[in-house]
Order: sequence, then structure tokens, then C-alpha cells
Amino acid sequence: MSEKPKELWSHCNECNQETKHDSVHQANRQRSFAIDGCYVDVGSVWDVLQCRGCGEIALRRIDWCSEDDPRDGPGPTTYFPPRVSRRKPAWASRYDLPWEYLSLLEETYTALHSDSRRLAMMGARALIDAVIRRNAGEQPNFAQGLNALSEKYLISEQDRGIIEAAIEAGSASAHRGHDPSPEDVNVVIDIVERLIHTEILAKQALKLKESTPPRPKRTAQKKS
Ligand SMILES: [Zn+2]
Repeated sequence: MSEKPKELWSHCNECNQETKHDSVHQANRQRSFAIDGCYVDVGSVWDVLQCRGCGEIALRRIDWCSEDDPRDGPGPTTYFPPRVSRRKPAWASRYDLPWEYLSLLEETYTALHSDSRRLAMMGARALIDAVIRRNAGEQPNFAQGLNALSEKYLISEQDRGIIEAAIEAGSASAHRGHDPSPEDVNVVIDIVERLIHTEILAKQALKLKESTPPRPKRTAQKKS
């Protein structure tokens, strides 16, 4: 059986947006089992998807069950590799980031890519704690940690309000079962990225200052 590739829209990690894809190959897997004397079929439809823009390949699996209501639309859909809704910022690779930041950032992005929003929020909170610890040492509480960052000019008063909101969201996810929306998570990740970037830029600025030759001293001009 040879059919024309099916065209569909899907997110492309390379193009970083929804693009047209071809399903260049499709395979089905199905099995049946009995529940209380009734047979139920379950299966998965696998598609090898190729982006028409850049040629990138991804694998999509849609699970189904004969008991599903067709009005509910397609069943659970999984992509391999996971669809990346947000990329790690370019500066994260450009600078020599401390290992603690790098590993926490990697784990936070992995959580984001698999849509594990609560885990991503907890990762963001852990990153803010790490920034406080690295810049101000262990602090008795979070408020004093923010005071210390403020004294080091790493955050402004406006930043402080935003970070407190981010921490509250991270705590609610960790302790109160809060399920944040994708928009909430993106705002918190924006805040965390900016905080780390500010710290890194402050250190880079210091290095730049040290490596720049000082201006020669002006000698007093003689009056003629
Ligand atoms: Zn593409």
C-alpha cells in the first residue's frame, strides 16, 4: 500500500513554530483484551513526521481506545523528541555558567519540554534560591535573601515584586498542588533567566573593566 504523504500542521523544533509536515510513514499497533467478558481494543498510531520547511524528522504517537468518545478528539499525543516550546537563551551557552545554574536550567527546560509545568516552577524556584546563595550566602529567609540581592544591585525594587510573585507561584506548585498555566510558567522562566543574566553580565562588566587599559592622565597645558 503506497499513499501520498499526509499533510498536517505540527510544531517544528528547528523552525521554532508550527509548520506544515508530511507524514512520511505511518504504523499502527493494536491489541485486544477482555474486561468483564467484553473485548476492548487499544492501540497507537505512529507517524514519522517531516517538516516541509527544514526537513527535520520527529515521531508522533497517538494512543486510542475503542471505548473513547470520538467527540473528545484524538487521544493522548506524544512526540519524540518532545516539542520544544521555548529554547534555552543563547547567552546560556555563550558564557561560562556555574554548574549549579547550568544543571538546574537543563532540568527546568526538560520539564518545560515535557509540559511538566509544576516541575518547571519548582526548578525556577530552586534557581532563584541558588542565585541568592551564590551572591549572598545562606540567608535566614527569602526576604533577607532578596534584600541582599538588592544591596548588590542585582535586582531593583520592581524586580523584587516580580520575583516574590514567582517564588509564591513556585511554592504553590510545590506545596499546594497549584497547576500553573503555560503563560504563568513562561513569565516565571522569563524572570529567572533575567536574574541569572543580570548576575552574569555584572561579572562580565567587571572583567571588561579590569582588562581595559586606563585612560592616560592629561598633563596640564602650559599657557603661552
Ligand atoms: Zn522545520
